Amino acid sequence: MKPHLRTALACLVAALAAPALHAQEKTLNLYSARHYQTDEALYANFTKQTGIKINRIEAKEDELLERIKNEGAHSPADVFITVDAARLAKADELGLFAPVKSKPLEERIPSHLRSDDWFAFSTRARVLIYNKESIKPEDVKSYEDLAGPKLKGQVCSRSGAHPYNLSLLASLIAHHGEQKAEDWAKGVVANFARAPKGGDTDQIKAVAAGECGVAISNSYYFARLMRSSKPEDRKVVEKLGVVWPNQQTQGVHINISGGGMLKTAPNKEAAVKFLEYLASDEAQRHFADGNNEWPAVPGVKTDNPALAALGDFKADTLPVPTLAKNATLAQKIYDRAGWK
Ligand code: FE
Repeated sequence: MKPHLRTALACLVAALAAPALHAQEKTLNLYSARHYQTDEALYANFTKQTGIKINRIEAKEDELLERIKNEGAHSPADVFITVDAARLAKADELGLFAPVKSKPLEERIPSHLRSDDWFAFSTRARVLIYNKESIKPEDVKSYEDLAGPKLKGQVCSRSGAHPYNLSLLASLIAHHGEQKAEDWAKGVVANFARAPKGGDTDQIKAVAAGECGVAISNSYYFARLMRSSKPEDRKVVEKLGVVWPNQQTQGVHINISGGGMLKTAPNKEAAVKFLEYLASDEAQRHFADGNNEWPAVPGVKTDNPALAALGDFKADTLPVPTLAKNATLAQKIYDRAGWK
């Protein structure tokens, strides 16, 4: 064979081999601030379906955002996922997300659960958990009740600086205005059983222990205890009642978990595929059955006894980007109210 022919042939072989090699190496770099162990199966299933391997970096959202910023144009991150609307909005404000045009995402995710740049994939409700011995359910029917005179010394909550509480107050600002929201925060602080400490599960346990009468908690923490096989968790649950607050008014406050594609994503095609996968029936069911959240996509059938037992409720349909918009003001109000 003549040398130039051999070279041409070698090039052809290389060209044919390249796509195959490339296909094998398809990867998605996922920066995740979701901290739920049950998500492993969610990612493994994506790889099984698409052949795309997921390299996952898990850390706190601020660390991840800092990292993406520092990595700049060379960031390997394709998708950023986290919990809480305000955190997603923060990534958005930093200009990190690229708009994603996707028919399946637009069709499946309701418009109040997405912005141009990010999508909610699951929802969680901020419910009230009360001690059945010391509190009457009719006294804890709304967030407003938490600030009323009947619950003096009864309320437990995590820090006001936590995004779950910032988003709750952000919703109250949107519904009632700044002044009423501040009056509410001050009223709740005046009713605290103790200074805020710990996470939502700690508040639930404090209610069961009788340290407080009522606590604010995300729904999935309670559902997790409901499904626990540990006898001590069963005992906690037996003592408690759950209230969907504000059913006569705006509905229970809803927060989200979601994500978006990064502007600098090196694997854009895989990133969109992954986001679309998260909105698929299968992944949506996983959020419900695995982590006790509700699917963002309406009509997805779930198989979770705890969620079924909690039953139906009226959810606040405030667009989640509004929560993000009010988060900074919410923090100022908590500071003024002394909700540390
Ligand atoms: Fe959480």
